Amino acid sequence: MPIRVTIWHEHRHEKKHEAVAKLYPEGMHGQLAKHLRKQDGFEVTLATLDDPDHGLGDGVIDGTDVMIWWGHGYHGEVSDEIVDKVHKRCLQGMGLIVLHSAHYSKIFKKLMGTTCDLKWRVAEDREILWVTKPGHPILAGIDDHFVLEKEEMYGEYFDVPEPDETLLISTFSGGECFRSGLTWQRGAGKIFYFRPGHETYASYYDANVLRVITNAVRWACPVEGGQVPTGSVNRPTPGWA
Ligand code: ZN
Repeated sequence: MPIRVTIWHEHRHEKKHEAVAKLYPEGMHGQLAKHLRKQDGFEVTLATLDDPDHGLGDGVIDGTDVMIWWGHGYHGEVSDEIVDKVHKRCLQGMGLIVLHSAHYSKIFKKLMGTTCDLKWRVAEDREILWVTKPGHPILAGIDDHFVLEKEEMYGEYFDVPEPDETLLISTFSGGECFRSGLTWQRGAGKIFYFRPGHETYASYYDANVLRVITNAVRWACPVEGGQVPTGSVNRPTPGWA
């Protein structure tokens, strides 16, 4: 069975800013899809904010094993009804990979229950991502660190609940640090937050960034038979008289 991946993308910056369109002529989602479609056993669907139902209608959510989410300036335009459906599916076992500025998306904030606030600066910082959990499947093939020459700075405090695992910590030229690769489980769903990916930088062409995202798709994919039942279950306890 293929892993059914849906890449959800705001896809507004490419339409409004020439520099972003030039960097990502097929959209940031198109660039990610191009890479993921080369992987064995991945079936990739694209969905954007301006599609009907944000591209997430007609069984797309239920037919998704792993959803990747990138949003930035228009989180408020995502309908609560769609967010509720994605949230429900995640609790039932769908994997969710939250990229960069999607830390402020409705779906991530709903799953975390905190403000998800952080410090930021767009000033061509150099980012070094340090591996803090070697051997984790999301980090397969990654050295002890990798460098992105130009990225937006995100700094602590990042207001999220204590993660299940901290896989990567970033340092920036300005001296700040940030927990940039984090996992949680909500219900049966695995969630991975991955920091890089500001729209004016080329991070989604970086081999290490693409490798982490690819590994994360495999990690977040629901386990066969691992989904939780959709309704409440009234089941007698064995041996209870
Ligand atoms: Zn950004």
